[in-house]
Amino acid sequence: MDSVHPPLQPRCAICNAPPFPECHHEGERLELALHQAQDRWAGVQRISDWVLNQARLQVLHLFARAKASRLEAHIQYLHTLPYYGLWQHYNGRPPLPPREFAYLQDQLRNAETNLRIGVDADWRKACLMYPEMLDYFFGLVEINFPDEKSEMVVRPQPGRRRARRDSGHSDRGSSKKGRGRG
Ligand SMILES: [Zn+2]
Repeated sequence: MDSVHPPLQPRCAICNAPPFPECHHEGERLELALHQAQDRWAGVQRISDWVLNQARLQVLHLFARAKASRLEAHIQYLHTLPYYGLWQHYNGRPPLPPREFAYLQDQLRNAETNLRIGVDADWRKACLMYPEMLDYFFGLVEINFPDEKSEMVVRPQPGRRRARRDSGHSDRGSSKKGRGRG
């Protein structure tokens, strides 16, 4: 039967050019529509937001832990410095000979500088974990597709689906009726 008819290839939907050679308009327009639909779908944004939020929490957590232990080591080191107890007791104005005083001040300044450099390094290291963390949390997202043969795939009702989403509550009752096979 089909062989009786000439092949019915439609013309380009955009510029009305003959089907052969194939022109690029339809492919380009479809890709654009796909991107626009993706932008409209809240799922992309929800997944990105969730993944980013989890990754950020973990990176901040890693940094906070590294910073806390670095601060602890810093304080421990300060206590090993000669006259540090005296320094604390006199709120930074210990009655020391000028030479000892200058030496202690120097040590404290060095320790402070090292602490700042260390904290910056901790932060950089934590930030370098972002790609790995993002991959990890994307990997935890579960994506479900409906059955290819399900009614909502075989007989889509785009308008209704959108109306349902906009109204914010489902009309599962009526869609169940539509699902009955017969
Ligand atoms: Zn065209």
